[in-house]
Amino acid sequence: MGSSSLLQKKPHAVCIPAPAQGHISPMLKLAKLLHTKGFHITFVNTEFNHKRLLKSRGPDSLKGLPDFQFKTIPDGLPPSDVDATQDIPSLFESTTTYCLAPFKDLLAKLNDTNSSQVPLVSCIVSDGAMSFTLAAAEELGIPEVFLWTANANDLKNGYLDTVLDWIPGLEGIRLKDLPSFLRTTNPDDFMVKFVLQETERARRASAIIINTFQELDHDVLHALSSYLPPLYTIGPLHLLENQVNNKSLEELRSNLWKEEPECLEWLDSKEQNSVVYLNFGSITVMRPEQLSEFAWGLANSKQNFLWVLRPDLVLGDSAILPTQFLEETKERGVFASWCPQEEVLSHPSVGGFLTHSGWNSTIESISYGVPMICWPFFSDQLTNCWYCCTKWGIGMEIDNAVKRDEVESLVRELMVGENGKKMKDKSMELKKLAEIDVTNSYLNLESLIYQVLLNPG
Ligand code: UDP
Repeated sequence: MGSSSLLQKKPHAVCIPAPAQGHISPMLKLAKLLHTKGFHITFVNTEFNHKRLLKSRGPDSLKGLPDFQFKTIPDGLPPSDVDATQDIPSLFESTTTYCLAPFKDLLAKLNDTNSSQVPLVSCIVSDGAMSFTLAAAEELGIPEVFLWTANANDLKNGYLDTVLDWIPGLEGIRLKDLPSFLRTTNPDDFMVKFVLQETERARRASAIIINTFQELDHDVLHALSSYLPPLYTIGPLHLLENQVNNKSLEELRSNLWKEEPECLEWLDSKEQNSVVYLNFGSITVMRPEQLSEFAWGLANSKQNFLWVLRPDLVLGDSAILPTQFLEETKERGVFASWCPQEEVLSHPSVGGFLTHSGWNSTIESISYGVPMICWPFFSDQLTNCWYCCTKWGIGMEIDNAVKRDEVESLVRELMVGENGKKMKDKSMELKKLAEIDVTNSYLNLESLIYQVLLNPG
């Protein structure tokens, strides 16, 4: 008899993120929370990302811990050793087409009572963009919940017909604020089909988890609840994780790039709210001239800054900042290629965030009370920007073309202007709401566990 039959009482969640930074991080946080609640966890990365995580965190970092193991599946793309973000449409096309079979093989191995050392798989927690996994859960007759790592409004993608005024919770939104994948006239575009497929499959999930808090997205959540399975707002996940504080899992982190924590010491030397933090996440790319405009705008604003320049941020091979800019700003600017963002955003010296408006960055900024300048790149980032600037009053949008004068005036306004002060006050209000609502999110996590994950019927 295999040892797993002795362990059948322990629930076993297989957690599978979409293979990109902004998806792996929240899934790992959720997995840690489930582990704290007594689940055995199998965390499934793609082989490509597993290698990158090992490289950035060291060979021991993914060894796993009691009741927490890492497994891999191939992503279906040609093998590569490049340390950079993969092309998102190609990646999703590939995972959708090729990953179900290896995923099912993995589940079969985990459930093989002759050889497996772990409890039988009792539920699947899948990224909403990895909905092919649903077929495996249905075959095994176990619950599957989707983790939606974008803002709740992104779940409306499949339902955006034509009249914008009809979108509940998004009244007044402009066409340009809608997720970029929807703005194509080509009905055969893969990403359009993909988004429609994922939102349609979301209806078949046992439940959906959204990394947000009720007070923030109230209208949209209300509108979504009428046509989706039960929605559980379990967020901000990083605040929940901090609150639960599971020491044994502290070392498990999910950065695909090596963090440079030295910038925190530099922040220690600066006055409260005096530094603008610039980071464009893991996917955004810019042209060399955009980089240069950001640089000169920053220099002319005369504000302190911490600027994270990911190695693959600039298109081509010229992430080179003008020498004169470096000379002029050496007393008040510092650079990193990747940083511990939550520590940076919660640092008292950081007074503003120039961001690409990814959902994780947005919700992290909200929970630490940091107002934003938004430079959205693609996907739901455009809608997140609209929310920050129009609905919540905690952001100012910067034109996509990027001109140094606009960068200069927006950075000044954010850091020392009247508008910046108002935005800071609003951000602090939302921070308080997030802190209060985290208790509800914790209760929602418990409800999800008892109502869905432990209750296959
Ligand atoms: N992040 C980080 N250090 C960095 C840049 C990003 O830890 O230097 C983290 C950030 O805290 C967030 C995630 O990476 O949790 C990026 O996700 P987001 O949704 O903001 O953007 P994406 O990378 O998906 O575009």
